[in-house]
Amino acid sequence: MQNLDIAKFGGTSVANYEAMSNCVKVVTMNPNTKLVVVSACAGVTNLLVELASGACDSAKREEIIAQVFAIHQKIIAQLGNEAQHEAVIKEYLGVVRDLAVQATMTRTDMITDRLVSHGELMSSYLITELFKQQGYKAQWFDVRKVMRTDSNFGKATALVEVISALTKEHLRPLLEGDSIIVTQGFIGADSSGQTTTLGRGGSDYSAALLGESCHAATISIWTDVPGVYTTDPRLVPSAKPIPELTYLEAAEMATFGAKILHPSTLVPAVRCDIPVYVGSSKEPEKGGTWVRPTTEYAPAFRAVALRKNQTLIVLSSPKMVGATGFLAQVFGIFAKYNLSVDLVSTSEVSIAVTLDAGTQTSGLSNIPESLFHELREFCHVKVEHDLSLVAVIGNNMARTSHITAEVFSSIDDYTVRMICYGASSHNLCFLVEQSEAESVLRKLHQRLLESAA
Ligand code: ASP
Ligand code: MG
Repeated sequence: MQNLDIAKFGGTSVANYEAMSNCVKVVTMNPNTKLVVVSACAGVTNLLVELASGACDSAKREEIIAQVFAIHQKIIAQLGNEAQHEAVIKEYLGVVRDLAVQATMTRTDMITDRLVSHGELMSSYLITELFKQQGYKAQWFDVRKVMRTDSNFGKATALVEVISALTKEHLRPLLEGDSIIVTQGFIGADSSGQTTTLGRGGSDYSAALLGESCHAATISIWTDVPGVYTTDPRLVPSAKPIPELTYLEAAEMATFGAKILHPSTLVPAVRCDIPVYVGSSKEPEKGGTWVRPTTEYAPAFRAVALRKNQTLIVLSSPKMVGATGFLAQVFGIFAKYNLSVDLVSTSEVSIAVTLDAGTQTSGLSNIPESLFHELREFCHVKVEHDLSLVAVIGNNMARTSHITAEVFSSIDDYTVRMICYGASSHNLCFLVEQSEAESVLRKLHQRLLESAA
């Protein structure tokens, strides 16, 4: 279909009947929105992750299942046809219960993914019914038919070419019809049909993957804030919305702070040049942010972002002096553990890197102790916690004078633990003590984004 728009709604946008009704309004306002991708209702994934941890006794298990049921039941109460919809939700929760019992015996990432996928299965079922209740044609679609991934449960990798072929066969023909197609974010299936997940917050990425494979003209990410802000408005009330951002800036923001877009989201959009819109499903009239290949206005400072709970690993060895291949060896070990390094800084005898733990669906740290054993075999290893990463995002930063002076002069009372600058002209990142991070963010925002006229 031409001009296809894909609308993704996050957990808060489908949290209850009223929120879901706003989604229906947003979708039906735009005749090009034919594919709807939803997250689980707010809070549900966390509850399911707790069940999947295997640490719940039977009383706790029943309490959590009752909580999950109550969230969906409230929606059903306003939806009508209660008996029919409750039966569907109860059937899903029956499977959840069985999997939760299994998890108490042996917890695996495979069981976790199957269990946790029910959040999206239930929310997508209910919102499909809501479209119908409000007089629209809607059809529920099981995304696992097309969202093929590898079998890395908990943070599976999407197999783009297979997804494209499967979508062509099973999903694109449906988009030619007159129904709105409603499907799940976050979940997929491997080649043997086992349910997988793309990692916490993965629904944005699902929407972008579907956007790519369905040749969408736009991807709309509907959330609870009207677009991307100059920083987190909960931490800095004077934060302002940004009308337009480039892919590169948005990617830096997603990776280094702003929770609004999942870091992987833009990869498929960039591959196909699809503009991404971010807006609030509750207040669509407030406008939002367009993320595009280029923007008219490209300021040196666009936003500041904060990411907490960073692990800094400092590796040192006298053998590094004049040696070659040391970095390759270190990165080889990180690669073996499938760990992605964010910041890197080197000196003659040492290298410092930061890692971000815990984007796996299970919420378990993905930094295993054996990594440190392996590193210790050939160098000295020091690990530091309680650090936050501050990212200043903008344009042409490494090619403009006064940038570093402006950034650091405003925070010269604070200790900066590590600085990364120059790899990209879109960011300057540094680490500060977690306890000081929020005040650093406020000072920077004031100096770089409020005073400039
Ligand atoms: N429901 C999943 C989560 O909470 C996926 C998402 O919301 O994007 O992580
Ligand atoms: Mg989300």
